[in-house]
Amino acid sequence: MTHPHLFPTSIAGSLPKPAWLSETNKLWPQWRSEGDELLDAKRDATLLWIKTQEDAGVDILTDGEQSRQHFVHGFLEYVDGIDFEHKVKMGIRNNRYDAMVPVVTGPLKLKGRVHQREAQIMRAHTKRKVKITMPGPMTIIDTLSDNFYGDKVKLAMAFADLLNQEARALQADGVDVIQFDEPAFNVYMDDVKTWGVDALNRCIEGLTCTTAVHICYGYGIKANLDWKETLGGEWRQYEAIFPALAASRIDQVSLECMNAKVPMHLMSLLKGKTVMVGVIDVASDVIETPEQVAATIGRALEFVPRDKLIACTNCGMAPMDRNIASAKLNALAAGARLARSLYAA
Ligand code: ZN
Repeated sequence: MTHPHLFPTSIAGSLPKPAWLSETNKLWPQWRSEGDELLDAKRDATLLWIKTQEDAGVDILTDGEQSRQHFVHGFLEYVDGIDFEHKVKMGIRNNRYDAMVPVVTGPLKLKGRVHQREAQIMRAHTKRKVKITMPGPMTIIDTLSDNFYGDKVKLAMAFADLLNQEARALQADGVDVIQFDEPAFNVYMDDVKTWGVDALNRCIEGLTCTTAVHICYGYGIKANLDWKETLGGEWRQYEAIFPALAASRIDQVSLECMNAKVPMHLMSLLKGKTVMVGVIDVASDVIETPEQVAATIGRALEFVPRDKLIACTNCGMAPMDRNIASAKLNALAAGARLARSLYAA
């Protein structure tokens, strides 16, 4: 007998944009249309991925981030006090790569709702649980330049307040899970302990829905693959930050596992948390087999209680080929089904 409630499946967040929506295989793609036509195209792409995730058998769906050009700047576009007209070149993630980033020039304030449209589309078209992802404060401030606040913690807390404002509204829209993406946590481990977790707690203040944080080693782009080569035989960044996260109010932690050099026993540092185990590698076009996915779940069960394990992707799939991403969704769900039959009590 299988237990469908065990090892529910979800994805880190993003999915590839169809060629009719934007350029493909890019992190900062150009849209194919504008105005109302673009709004329609974003909605259609969101519906397409809702259906594709449902068909694959994914349990907790996302909008695939089809409405944002980039996972950080997609939020910043809705914030007053940021100059997008005069971007500056900046080394981000501790100078791992250069990006053209906007500049904070005044007090930050939300222009209005950020992800209401996506939340409503999802809620209207699926009965499954839905998740909205937003960039976390530390990752945001590492992806822009500041000419106004003059203090990174103050700036991060200002963003945490805006994220909290949008998160409360998303909860009211019927969103089941709100996730903050903090790849910067794996880069600035000391900051995580001194203020990063505080900022995260501020993002989720007053929420009663499920809350999550995603911490990864980045998309499968060359700069990240090169960086991983410098991290040695064992990646132990999680060791420095998981105890602080275990003490936080966040419900779920999403981490990399498949093909990562992360020692799996570090998951046991997340006592009390639900762990979204990355069982799908987004840096490789090779499709995992259900047996591989189930085996990764099985190994993770040595460190994570069975009722606290969600099978997930390592990171977002935005820059991938669309058909490969679809095949990986199928592998994810098939692998979790197999794991249920193998590891059911
Ligand atoms: Zn990621």
